[in-house]
Amino acid sequence: MKVVTTIAQLKKLVNAAKQANKTIGLVPTMGYLHDGHLTLARTAKSENDIVIMSVFVNPTQFGPNEDFESYPRDLPRDTVLAESAGVDIVFAPSVEEMYPTDGGIKLLAGRQATILCGASRPGHFDGVIQVVSKLFHLAEPTYAYFGQKDAQQVAIIETMVRDFNFPLVIKTVPIVREEDGLAKSSRNVYLTEHDRKEAPAIYEALNIAKESYKQTKDAAQAIAQATAHITTNTSGRIDYLQLLSYPDLAEINDQTETALLATAVYIGKTRLIDNLIFSLKGE
Ligand code: AMP
Repeated sequence: MKVVTTIAQLKKLVNAAKQANKTIGLVPTMGYLHDGHLTLARTAKSENDIVIMSVFVNPTQFGPNEDFESYPRDLPRDTVLAESAGVDIVFAPSVEEMYPTDGGIKLLAGRQATILCGASRPGHFDGVIQVVSKLFHLAEPTYAYFGQKDAQQVAIIETMVRDFNFPLVIKTVPIVREEDGLAKSSRNVYLTEHDRKEAPAIYEALNIAKESYKQTKDAAQAIAQATAHITTNTSGRIDYLQLLSYPDLAEINDQTETALLATAVYIGKTRLIDNLIFSLKGE
């Protein structure tokens, strides 16, 4: 496995792979790898000749009062884990390497970015598509792998790929969870022992709402039941808990085929996100 930090080094490897007609799977991450990231990498390895994993804590997707500075980082550990999952190239650039100049041109993520996480993190998805579009140009992947954990992110990136004709296919990998249901996340290291005991209530609440909605088709009641489960079983604060159509992220109606039940909850000081995607037809 090669670890490269400059765009020139990466381009050299990508050009060689392209000349040899190899398929490239790209796995963008912010590092501090866990089994969720590694599942993306293993899936990419099974479907491509070469896997490129980027490890870059992208400043442009963090708000001014968010955790950019304190976000966990450990590149030596990440490279060992990446290699164990079959990654061929780790691309770990500095902020200066990725953003040497600011010509003032910005990408806007649009309607899908105004709700859910976008409502409480203005500009977050603009930063995401900025870095992801750069990574797409740099790695020239055949397939790019993203986790359903960030379902809104996947929906927005798929829109970008479609609207701007990126010559690649997005692949989504299901959420990898701890044994008690908590979605794996680099931010779980922030949880105190007390927080960690409360955190599984988020996934429990999503399942309660899903079953309730499937039986009654009453979204308000389903959301109320899930809200009650979180407020009774945690000291957390709900940022949002919503049922929307997926991937367009619009209101549910009779025609909706696939639903996204998504939430963000502050447990202690840590903002955790989780979701379920499920079919509303043919069951
Ligand atoms: P991050 O490093 O948090 O930006 O995540 C990098 C990629 O890994 C994103 O596509 C995430 O959706 C994905 N990911 C993070 N956590 C999980 C998880 N628990 N299960 C599946 N994919 C995940």
